[in-house]
Amino acid sequence: MKFQPVIGLEVHCQLKTDSKIFCGCSTKFGAEPNSQTCPVCLGMPGSLPVLNRKVVEFAIKAGLATNCSISHRSVFARKNYFYPDLPKGYQISQFEEPICRKGWLDIQVDGIEKRIGITRIHMEEDAGKLVHGDVAGLEEGSGVDLNRACTPLLEIVSEPDLRSSDEAVAYLKQLHRIVTWLGICDGNMEEGSFRCDANVSVMPLGSETFGTRAEIKNVNSFKFVKQAIEYEIQRQIDLIEDGGTVVQETRLFDPNSGRTRSMRGKEEAHDYRYFPDPDLVPLVIDADWVQRAHGELPELPEHKQQRFITEYGVTGYDAEVLTASRSLAEYFEECVAFHHNAKAVSNWIMGEVTRALNDSGTTIDACPVLPKTLADLLKLIDSGAISGKIAKTVFDEMWRSGKEPGAIVEEQGLLQVSDSGAIEAIIDEIMAANQGQVEEYRGGKEKVFGFFVGQVMKASKGKANPALVNELLLARLKG
Ligand code: ADP
Ligand code: MG
Ligand code: ZN
Repeated sequence: MKFQPVIGLEVHCQLKTDSKIFCGCSTKFGAEPNSQTCPVCLGMPGSLPVLNRKVVEFAIKAGLATNCSISHRSVFARKNYFYPDLPKGYQISQFEEPICRKGWLDIQVDGIEKRIGITRIHMEEDAGKLVHGDVAGLEEGSGVDLNRACTPLLEIVSEPDLRSSDEAVAYLKQLHRIVTWLGICDGNMEEGSFRCDANVSVMPLGSETFGTRAEIKNVNSFKFVKQAIEYEIQRQIDLIEDGGTVVQETRLFDPNSGRTRSMRGKEEAHDYRYFPDPDLVPLVIDADWVQRAHGELPELPEHKQQRFITEYGVTGYDAEVLTASRSLAEYFEECVAFHHNAKAVSNWIMGEVTRALNDSGTTIDACPVLPKTLADLLKLIDSGAISGKIAKTVFDEMWRSGKEPGAIVEEQGLLQVSDSGAIEAIIDEIMAANQGQVEEYRGGKEKVFGFFVGQVMKASKGKANPALVNELLLARLKG
């Protein structure tokens, strides 16, 4: 029997607000344990939560960017459970009435476009963190750090529309690009700012009834999501083929073994005894507010990607790479504004600039070569002042010293030689010194041509105009 996997993702992203969702404590990462706490986030009886307006703004933006409708009215609910990192005994979340509903994202896998439904987006608070053993001044045993308690999260829940691990990763990357693009989440997966629960089931191919799902908790890299889903699909198929049944449960992925293992039986919504939080009034968002948020949205990545193709004529692949992040896309457009050869700009950003960034572990935001200076360099190439090869040397020097390309070319005497007389003189010398090869060429061994090009370029220290060298060499060698 053949099986069809079915996957739905729940993504948690931590919002980049300065303060927490229901109190004024700082959300800064890495502070002394429990130094960023107050009666509200410590869950003291009698303290009252006050909603952070910025969180609502960010949630509206996320909803608009993922084609959701924004609820006029939404309600915070208490999700009751006990755990030492949750002092109140409940998490404030949204349940029946979330802030955003019914959106979608388009993904592409192997050139095929597919629309993935988004069921809902809701706001909630994060829990604290348990710290075990010899860390943070703790000598033994376990401690609880409540700095993270009450930091704002969005949970973005997809429809079970995904059918393979590749589709799941494409969806996750698309979502990651959007929330970082909007500037509402730093997207740092290692620190857990963007993490995903993957729900996986399998059903006989052709069936319309979904199988029982297992939920793999808190997977925090694209690679692990792919591995975890693939392992889980195969585990469920093997189980069914051996006559077993999949049970609904929560599982954990272990990156070391590449396997998932059972963590606990899956709790149902009713286990949490959800009820509206009496400390928080229903949130009402009027049309004006949505309109304002809409006006503040930047051009979205998919739109920009499409526009780069139509407006600048770059390839689909280039457009995708160039819009991997908003900063990179803006760098590209700024550079094109100074130098209209978009293809050249694109090639340089995807080539030299990316290489230099990777080599030095820098991001585009901190790129020492500014768009304007890169444009100046490309102008020197396009005007024939320097060759593409020399330009790479100049670029490295720009990167190191921060100097203008024109100044580097002048200082180091790198101007391209396009004077036929000077090049011919070099050619004559080289032909005189390599009579044997001249005979070979004239005898029909055309491969020797490359040898002559190399010699001339070397003699000119790379500065001879390559097109001219080819032309003149050909004429001279033909005799
Ligand atoms: P819970 O919090 O109980 O996990 P949610 O409704 O928040 O429930 O999330 C359920 C997730 O599981 C959604 O992403 C949904 O698309 C997915 N899902 C539901 N049924 C299946 C199924 N049979 N197979 C795979 N994924 C599923
Ligand atoms: Mg879940
Ligand atoms: Zn607080």
